[in-house]
Amino acid sequence: MGRLAPPSPFHRRYESTYRGYQHDALQFLPLRVRYRPKCLIMELVLLLLRWLRDAFSGAMLPPVSEKTLFQKIMDREEPGDILYEDDLCVALRDINPQAPTHVLIVPRNPIPSLDALTEEDESLVGHLFLVAQKVAADEGLTDGYRTVFNNGSDAQQTVAHVHLHLLGGRHMSWPPG
Ligand code: 5GP
Repeated sequence: MGRLAPPSPFHRRYESTYRGYQHDALQFLPLRVRYRPKCLIMELVLLLLRWLRDAFSGAMLPPVSEKTLFQKIMDREEPGDILYEDDLCVALRDINPQAPTHVLIVPRNPIPSLDALTEEDESLVGHLFLVAQKVAADEGLTDGYRTVFNNGSDAQQTVAHVHLHLLGGRHMSWPPG
């Protein structure tokens, strides 16, 4: 059985530096600065350069688009099958149809939901239904159709731009799921 050698003075110094307060206080510094304090100036210069880059690149970037998906389709920035449009609204085919005819009638004004409608929107809402009636006739929905506003999470509204669903072309059950 060999005997363990007593710790060398170097080892003791290393331990006290490693476990001591001084070490913990410097933990936020990158390793290269901790071991080479001269790097601190370089580190500060890099920090300043990074800050300048972020500040100016932010200023040069185009403004973040706040358009809704439906506004982008209306403005032809996103593809969409538009069946009808006027000054107040656009009717476009749903990308994931739940019936042979599934059209969304969307006001140009990006009102987020049915809940956000006000008295000022009264005639707009009537207009959406009249457009639904016209599109239904154009689509040949002579046996009936359904119109739906999904409002909020319980109703599974997914696009925060109010829209009237027009569904038709098949027999539907009631109540809806
Ligand atoms: P919500 O769930 O909000 O009542 O209805 C949103 C509808 O928009 C859904 O029926 C969904 O299929 C449709 N939709 C989602 N993304 C797109 C798209 O990029 N293009 C089109 N035309 N419809 C979409």
